[in-house]
Amino acid sequence: MTSRPPDDETSAPVLLVDRVSRVFPGGVTALRDVSLAVRRGELLAIVGPSGSGKSTLLNLMGTLDLPSSGRVEIGGTDVTALNDRQLSTLRGRTLGFVFQQFHLTDGLTAVENVSTGLLYAGVPRRDRRPLAEEALDRVGLAHRTGHLPAQLSGGERQRVAIARALVHGPELILADEPTGALDTANGDSVMELLADLNHDGTTVAVITHDRDIAARLPRRIEIRDGHLTSDTLNGATSALGQ
Ligand code: ADP
Ligand code: MG
Repeated sequence: MTSRPPDDETSAPVLLVDRVSRVFPGGVTALRDVSLAVRRGELLAIVGPSGSGKSTLLNLMGTLDLPSSGRVEIGGTDVTALNDRQLSTLRGRTLGFVFQQFHLTDGLTAVENVSTGLLYAGVPRRDRRPLAEEALDRVGLAHRTGHLPAQLSGGERQRVAIARALVHGPELILADEPTGALDTANGDSVMELLADLNHDGTTVAVITHDRDIAARLPRRIEIRDGHLTSDTLNGATSALGQ
């Protein structure tokens, strides 16, 4: 899988996770002292066994959750200092999300589902539909704009979700097991779409426990028991002493 080379090391990271821990009420420590920087243009996999903290990390990277300690910065902004409204604006303009179970709204057509990706992006109402149609065209679904999720296959539903994630031109797309509910052929085409977006300049982080998929991406971050245990770039592993 090809990707465009990331910016050089002197540019500010798109995303910085700095000594982050997350303890859930009840006492489960899902992440312990995790640090990583994601640079513009990267395509990276987050891998690890079930329950190791991958989704917790992705939610923190996407400001859907806040750390118990440590700092998360997006484009240089410390997100722990923002209120809920500022966080939804930041998400609505900068981030796109893709989930294993698609998270489409049943009663809305494909184009209406994609339009919801523009609700917090400051795009005037009249521009939303044409932009949503363009995004569906980009994922190969120009012929399905009026279909409801129930009338689409799993692979098509995930492509609608990707169109919704990209419609506002986010800097960073975060995907949590995007191929987990799909067969290999549909999973591969979803990964190709994400790689194409990356090639066009979007930074992409993908959680996967599919080793074949992870092996094809330029950078792999491994999580075990809430610890970041390795960070591998183009075959070069940096030892993290865990
Ligand atoms: P993964 O995505 O790698 O399967 P998760 O990040 O979902 O792992 O979960 C990591 C750990 O945190 C697990 O032990 C899980 O049970 C726990 N956990 C996740 N979310 C919550 C929550 N909202 N409340 C309590 N415990 C949670
Ligand atoms: Mg998970």
